[in-house]
Amino acid sequence: MIIQRVVLNSRPGKNGVPVAENFRLEQCTIADTVQAGQVRVKTLYLSVDPYMRCRMNEDTGSDYLQPWQLSEVADGGGVGVVEESKHDNLAKGDFVTSFTWPWQTVAILDGSSLQKLVPQLVSGRLSYFLGAAGITGLTALLGVREKGHVAVGANQTMVVSGAAGACGSLAGQIGRLEGCSRVVGIAGTDEKCSILVQEMGFDAAINYKKGNVAEQLRELCPGGVDVYFDNVGGDISDTVISQMNQNSHIILCGQISQYNKDVPYPPPLPPDIEKIRKERNITRERFLVLNYMDKQEAGILQLCQWIQEGKLKVRETMVEGLANIGAAFQSMMHGGNIGKQIVSVSK
Ligand code: NAP
Repeated sequence: MIIQRVVLNSRPGKNGVPVAENFRLEQCTIADTVQAGQVRVKTLYLSVDPYMRCRMNEDTGSDYLQPWQLSEVADGGGVGVVEESKHDNLAKGDFVTSFTWPWQTVAILDGSSLQKLVPQLVSGRLSYFLGAAGITGLTALLGVREKGHVAVGANQTMVVSGAAGACGSLAGQIGRLEGCSRVVGIAGTDEKCSILVQEMGFDAAINYKKGNVAEQLRELCPGGVDVYFDNVGGDISDTVISQMNQNSHIILCGQISQYNKDVPYPPPLPPDIEKIRKERNITRERFLVLNYMDKQEAGILQLCQWIQEGKLKVRETMVEGLANIGAAFQSMMHGGNIGKQIVSVSK
């Protein structure tokens, strides 16, 4: 059977900016029959995520991420439908997901590598399993719960950077649901800021590409910052940390502003900011959602419940066609997405 797939065409270099041409669409042949224990799946949706930037390097700089190999198929979060099964627990028509889904239109996979999905949990919106009802939602939920020290009635102010992105847009809403009294987002366009306030219930949002972030933050967080959900690192985070309160908490989710640089993870703070952090006893522990997979099932159910109740608003930026996955990745790394960046493959 002839299918299409996307391979890594070239590496951007550790300090380079990734471009769509780092990926290449090609045709290849897969077996016509599946072996015992395998299934043939049709890909429906693929997830495009910032961590993939590290997988484009020869050395990802982390022990839990494998580098993509040149001229070999890329992979990541995916959702698809079973077309043929020789696995005991999977049948034709089942919807399934995996963190290591190959970027190809049809694939033969080991059935035991797949998780079966319940479409009713997301009212049939299967792409949500890659975002708000998947690893992205879990990252926001467990980040807040495990590292945020958010408590009902504690009158806490939360700031979220990368706030209109996949994790950030959920994290701010979850911060509120879990008890924060004030939530302020930082994002890269006026449109994103307006969506955060009008649709997602943030109290205010700052466009970091306009005006003075420190001044706006002081105005919008008069009582200082108690919880900081950090997706970006760099200057934005240094500014937020300078305005954090005694005994406050950073949720160190990601540092996207540093991913095109050859620096360790997590990048150390500049000395003056690290001094503030220490003096004010601000926690900044590394958070990795994969360390909390025992909380996955309950977490997903909680997220799905909030989505169904309308308490968690979800945005996606959907790009059509496997051929456009490189462009979708490039666009996301430059702020082109609102909410989760998804590539729809089947149409
Ligand atoms: P995302 O926020 O949907 O996409 C990236 C967004 O980051 C862009 O839309 C852009 O929006 C912003 N951005 C890009 N370059 C930037 C820069 N130099 N400075 C400031 N903002 C920049 O991605 P996501 O999936 O939600 O991931 C957010 C962060 O969480 C990433 O750092 C990711 O690595 C991390 N993450 C961590 C875990 C974990 O287990 N710890 C799990 C998943 C994701 P603007 O228009 O606002 O610039």
